[in-house]
Amino acid sequence: MSSALKPSGTVRLQRLEGGYVKLPMHLFVKGASTENIRRVPSMCWLITHEPSQTKIVFDLGVRKDIENYPPAIHERLKTVILTDVQQDSIASLEKAGINPNSDVDSVIISHLHWDHIGDPSGFGRRTRFIIGPGAKTLIEGKDAYPTNKAGHFDSNALPHDRTEELPPPSETSYWTSLEPFSAVHDWFGDGSMYVVNAPGHLPGHLNLLLHTGSDKWVYLAADSTHDPAILSGSAETAIYTDPLTGLFKCAHANKEMADIHLGLVRKLKELLPVEVILAHDHSWLEANPDRFKS
Ligand SMILES: [Zn+2]
Repeated sequence: MSSALKPSGTVRLQRLEGGYVKLPMHLFVKGASTENIRRVPSMCWLITHEPSQTKIVFDLGVRKDIENYPPAIHERLKTVILTDVQQDSIASLEKAGINPNSDVDSVIISHLHWDHIGDPSGFGRRTRFIIGPGAKTLIEGKDAYPTNKAGHFDSNALPHDRTEELPPPSETSYWTSLEPFSAVHDWFGDGSMYVVNAPGHLPGHLNLLLHTGSDKWVYLAADSTHDPAILSGSAETAIYTDPLTGLFKCAHANKEMADIHLGLVRKLKELLPVEVILAHDHSWLEANPDRFKS
């Protein structure tokens, strides 16, 4: 175990509802049938730093009013990936006794895909939004909606004055290495929560490593993969031809980097007594409906 892993603090982890998405599995898992549509959660998390009671939310899931996503996303949600949001992350927070207007220090967004950014407007002015290195390129510039009417990333998705992009992984005053990862940041300075730079899925993709009790760890892997069988190594990421462009496509912006990162997550499981949870892991949720319940 690395010498850096001597945590003095712990965090309390609670699962928040973030809605469900119906994934055509052939777009995610190699060899899956085109008829295999799987309803999976878009899990969100409330993290309370035990020593200071500081509250962090990791991901906001799917928004209820899908017509307020950019038109290209809204169209896709009516045709390719259907959504089902009975309770969004804001309502889930309120149900847990947390006031999103005043009680949340930071919302860390694992990445800027629509099923992770929810509806940030539900938070008050004291909440800041944290995005990973390079994520701003998706919501700034001419490719973002509404400058690009067909854009998938909304330049107004997050409040401009309260959104902070983490420094590039080469910034060694911020990031350190922690086996097996090359860039992690000790958020509270006591080893209770590490933000992990998790490249490959989308620019700025982040994961969290949480110390939840004596020798107990949870790794929130976000979209490092969409299927637990890929994490375990018994299935592979699908590659398919995009009907619009004719180009090869997969669930990750950079498959090679995503594969390397997933290998590191597997390595982490060898090094630590850690529970790895993917954002869309339906089988984990079915097996653990009351675990980390808020
Ligand atoms: Zn994603």
